[in-house]
Amino acid sequence: MSAMDRHEQAYTYCAYCPKLCRFACPVSEATHTEAHSTWGKMTAAHLVAEGKRDLDESTAKALHACTGCGRCKSFCKHENLVGPALFAAREETVKSGNQPKGAASTLATFTQAQNPFGPELAALVASWRSETPVRYPLFPGCSSLVKAPQVIEDTIAVSRAFGAPMGVSRVSSRCCGYPLYAAGSHDAFRDHARANAEALDSVPELAVLDPGCAHTLKVVYPMFGVHLKTRIRTVVEVLEENLSHAPAKPPLAQTVGYHDACKLGRGLGQYDQPRKLLARAVSGVQEAASIRSEGGCSGGGGLLPRTMPEVAVEVARRQAVEVAPQPDVAVVTACPTSKRMFERSGKTSYDLMTLLRRWVES
Ligand code: SF4
Ligand code: SF4
Repeated sequence: MSAMDRHEQAYTYCAYCPKLCRFACPVSEATHTEAHSTWGKMTAAHLVAEGKRDLDESTAKALHACTGCGRCKSFCKHENLVGPALFAAREETVKSGNQPKGAASTLATFTQAQNPFGPELAALVASWRSETPVRYPLFPGCSSLVKAPQVIEDTIAVSRAFGAPMGVSRVSSRCCGYPLYAAGSHDAFRDHARANAEALDSVPELAVLDPGCAHTLKVVYPMFGVHLKTRIRTVVEVLEENLSHAPAKPPLAQTVGYHDACKLGRGLGQYDQPRKLLARAVSGVQEAASIRSEGGCSGGGGLLPRTMPEVAVEVARRQAVEVAPQPDVAVVTACPTSKRMFERSGKTSYDLMTLLRRWVES
């Protein structure tokens, strides 16, 4: 059974759909290309699954033109799971040798380093050893460990100010495996998830900083038959629970725009928690016209920044304009990848943890 077989119904629903979610996809909105619409990509997958279309280079590219944001599902009567179905179809591009270069190089790096960036994570994690007891073992995610260590510092500082001290857990040296999942290397992903489940066996609870990792551990692993004993919660969730212990300080006199990160919002249903935290930290929060389950995407998921880098930045630019069109208003998000995407598009962006730290230390 191939990975695609499990998604046959999803492909068929879309292929016979009168494109009811045509406006929803951030990728086709950015490229203005019908082949990149939800319908176009899923129809291509349907035809490949039926043996009616060759998996040539342009079809392989179309199958990678998805961030897995889940926005189309919010407008779909079938609640069709398009992202997972397209990621499964990517397995065929690996087999046919037509995988886009950016996805192939990500897989090669992962095979060598067990993470998508390359540096050995264990050494980075060791540098975060806590000197004082912690209540919550923190799993930052490799994106923060490698690209944004400052956000880890901010998170630890905020957690202490909230009376919920966090410290980087040694199990953080293991990537959740999302890049394998998004690249369609699903057998390798399942093996990786099983190995992680074994390594996490004695860890009762984790506070996960990157919502992409939290979603992978909590939602994607069970889709592959891997169920962790560890209680997975987001840092945002834990901090919101401890908000009553936060210092009684007035909010910073600042207005920001809030972006619902796809995996935190649509993925884990956490829309209110980050807003409650933000409302304490700053005096003004503005929102896009489409928010929560219909909110836009920053272009950072599904390996899009690696397979279609310019399109990914354009997706981020469009979302930044939706959230905060004024040049002097920054976009705040609780996702390290989204923050990086907004910055790449030229927009000032803060991680929610950075803003909270500024507030608790004001
Ligand atoms: S996701 Fe739903 S609404 Fe969109 S094309 Fe597929 S079946 Fe139609
Ligand atoms: S999951 Fe997001 S990027 Fe993928 S087809 Fe749906 S709307 Fe487009």
